Amino acid sequence: MNWGCVCLDLDNTLIDYEAAFKKGMHYTFHHFFDGNWSQIKPADKDEWFPVFKKQCNELFDNIKLKNWSKQEYQQIRFIKSLQYFQIEITPEMAWEFQSYFYSIVHLFVEPFQSAPLLLNKLSERNIPFGLITNGRTYVQKNKLKALNFERWFSPENIFISQEYGVAKPNSKLFEIAHHSLNKSTSSPSLYIGDSWELDVVGAINAGWDAIYLNSREKVPTTNHQPLQTCRTLNEVIEVLGKEIIEERG
Ligand SMILES: [Mg+2]
Repeated sequence: MNWGCVCLDLDNTLIDYEAAFKKGMHYTFHHFFDGNWSQIKPADKDEWFPVFKKQCNELFDNIKLKNWSKQEYQQIRFIKSLQYFQIEITPEMAWEFQSYFYSIVHLFVEPFQSAPLLLNKLSERNIPFGLITNGRTYVQKNKLKALNFERWFSPENIFISQEYGVAKPNSKLFEIAHHSLNKSTSSPSLYIGDSWELDVVGAINAGWDAIYLNSREKVPTTNHQPLQTCRTLNEVIEVLGKEIIEERG
């Protein structure tokens, strides 16, 4: 396949965000509850985190259902995780906790082992490639800097939802990237990401091809047809190898 550009998701596609989330939340917990909030420390971080993570998973759909904003979700999941230990805090304190996490999470990001190989292979090919990622601009930029991903992505090739005021799965963000990077009139763009709803559905609805990186064995929730489903980045490299490398020799 001759794509006019290839774009990638960042969190849980190129980097192990689940691991960074856990480490960053542990660090934030320690910062507050072994610091200014020591009087209300609910439990040890290893006892608290699974309770918090359960709240994250159970409450997340409230964003999709548009019951809560992302910020409300982030506040409520934390408040509820402390209520489990009979600790009451204010929404303002919950936001202080989340904001601190945002300011440090980049310290814990690590690329998946095969990410550099994938990015090197894309750079070797004469094909424009970029990042489309949902999130706060400063948080995502801090991560890219910490990862030294500037080696592969120049600022014009990075599309962060907050910067454009529109987030995946909205087609608009894909269209902005397509118009900036895909100089061909006939070749489609390709997107690679780990979220069915945000990445696969978003990309296909915008007229892109999609590769679904289903590393967490999630069942698709719609009838969209990705070009390929892969379980690992190595499998993605294989697919691209066949599709791009053979084509372009
Ligand atoms: Mg992702």
